[in-house]
Amino acid sequence: MPDKKIGIETRFHQKYIPVTNCGCWIWTDAPDKYGYGRLQIGGKAVKAHRISYEIHKGDLDKNKLVCHTCDMPICVNPDHLYLGTNQDNMDDMVRRNRSVPAYNPHPGELNGRAVLTHDDVVDILYKYYYLGENSGKLSEKYPVTTSGIQSILRGKTWKHVDRVWIDPTVKANARSVANKNRKKPTPHIRITKKGPIQINSKNK
Ligand SMILES: [Zn+2]
Repeated sequence: MPDKKIGIETRFHQKYIPVTNCGCWIWTDAPDKYGYGRLQIGGKAVKAHRISYEIHKGDLDKNKLVCHTCDMPICVNPDHLYLGTNQDNMDDMVRRNRSVPAYNPHPGELNGRAVLTHDDVVDILYKYYYLGENSGKLSEKYPVTTSGIQSILRGKTWKHVDRVWIDPTVKANARSVANKNRKKPTPHIRITKKGPIQINSKNK
């Protein structure tokens, strides 16, 4: 048994990128449809954040939920995980969606009445930056045109979605967007030649 656990632990630690700005450990393997990272164990897909909890905090009751303090389902940092009830999890989801203003795309920018949720946008950003999917491919999965996807990536729309968890050094994709954004850095990260730096709200 110990050998099996070590094997899982090794594989686990090969599959995420720690992001300095927010402390999230972003899973870099295809997530499930709910946005959770997963790891194959004995032919079964197990949620990666639950594995993280077990590795770092001990055995887990199968009936217990592992919730995120950071609202990022793809985060596997044990410090961002807590044991919660189904109600805690629902409260988190409600809080997350309530904090998002009504979606108001620029006219003509998106297809018809395209409506995305906050989680869709996080998913789009994640798939682009961490899984290397391009805007064309993403536009097939969501009711948004390619240029609509690009507007999200450039931060023209959905600006309010926190992007501090995106590590711009991860992919070439990220670098090209970072270059386009150089004149208008996000409130949280500024891209410099030495890498991303966090902008303190006190510094103007
Ligand atoms: Zn996190």
